[in-house]
Amino acid sequence: MSMDDDAQPAARLTVLSGPSGVGKDSVIEFVRLRSPWIKLSVSVTTRKKRDYETDGEHYHFVTRSEFQRLVDGGQLLEWAEFAGNLYGTPRAQVEGWLHQGRPVLLKIDLQGARQVRAAMPEAQLVFLAPPSVEELHRRLVGRGTDDEETIKRRLAHADEELAAESEFDHTVVNDFVERAADELVGLLGSLYLAHEH
Ligand code: 5GP
Repeated sequence: MSMDDDAQPAARLTVLSGPSGVGKDSVIEFVRLRSPWIKLSVSVTTRKKRDYETDGEHYHFVTRSEFQRLVDGGQLLEWAEFAGNLYGTPRAQVEGWLHQGRPVLLKIDLQGARQVRAAMPEAQLVFLAPPSVEELHRRLVGRGTDDEETIKRRLAHADEELAAESEFDHTVVNDFVERAADELVGLLGSLYLAHEH
């Protein structure tokens, strides 16, 4: 495989989506460890920071007006409202990495995945699925970081997202997080790429 600057960079954009609570963050944590060559996009969000999160690492936490300025300036590759908060992918960061030939992984919701598909049909869409719907609901209720109303909205949204699986190119079942991460890394082709460098 050629690693020339202009070797189909957009082909290396992969979107990881799936219902809230399915374990996208845990899988991505293993991907980060296994394959530092993969670039993980850091989204901007108006959501409140959770205790375990670091600004600039998990998200860039911004106000609604800052977010609106990014939208108006065309600086987001995609954006969506999720459970009352705004989330978006900074365009310049992703395009820069793709131009360098790095595989890029976006962890975004279904609306975002659809926008990426429309804007970049060559992007690879991966759906992270729970071992079962019951297990997903258990995880969502048990997380304990959100109030009852938010959990209810997340359950409804999760069911909607589960129904969209067929829109994706691949499904990875998060039965064991390390196994799922390995499968995802395989889909990104990054072991091979990392080996070349
Ligand atoms: P959380 O608040 O639990 O971190 O994320 C809530 C949802 O927002 C998840 O489904 C996550 O994938 C999605 N999300 C995170 N960043 C982005 C983004 O930049 N764009 C879109 N469309 N969704 C995002």
